Amino acid sequence: MKCPRDATTLQPFMVEGRIEVDRCSSCRGLWLDKGELEQLQETIERDHGNLTDVLKDTVGASFDQVRQERQGPARCPRCDAEMETREYGYNSQVMIDACPEGCGVWLDNGELERLEAFYEAGREEITIPLRWRVWAGVLSAFHKGKKSTKS
Ligand SMILES: [Zn+2]
Ligand SMILES: [Zn+2]
Repeated sequence: MKCPRDATTLQPFMVEGRIEVDRCSSCRGLWLDKGELEQLQETIERDHGNLTDVLKDTVGASFDQVRQERQGPARCPRCDAEMETREYGYNSQVMIDACPEGCGVWLDNGELERLEAFYEAGREEITIPLRWRVWAGVLSAFHKGKKSTKS
C-alpha cells in the first residue's frame, strides 16, 4: 500500500504491541484498516498512557507542515476511492479521512494523539459520576452509623 499523501510505501507498525497498522515513514501518517481503530480505542481506554510514550516522536513541527501541504482529497490506499474528510465520533473535533467504501481510515501525523485525548476525555465523563456515586454511598453509610449510635 502507498501513502495517500506522498505515495511512500507504507510499513507495518505495531501499536501497543498488539495492533498492526500501516505507517508512512515519510509523513508519519497511519493507515488503520476497518476495525483497527476500534481495537485501538479499546486499548487506549483500558491501558491509558502507553501510546503517548510510544508515539512521542511523531508529535511535533511536522504536524502543521503536513496540514499545510495537503493537496486535495486523499485516495484510499486499498481501493483508490476518494476519501471523505469527516469528524471522528461525536464532537471530537478530530478530522480524519475515511474511505467511503469502508476500507479504513487515514490519520495524519498527530491525529492519533488527538483521538487519544478525545477517548480519555470521554472516559473522564464516565469516571466522575462513578466517583460521586461512591462518595454518596460513603456519606449515607456514615449518616446511618451516626443515627444508630444516637438511638
Ligand atoms: Zn506519507
Ligand atoms: Zn477503500
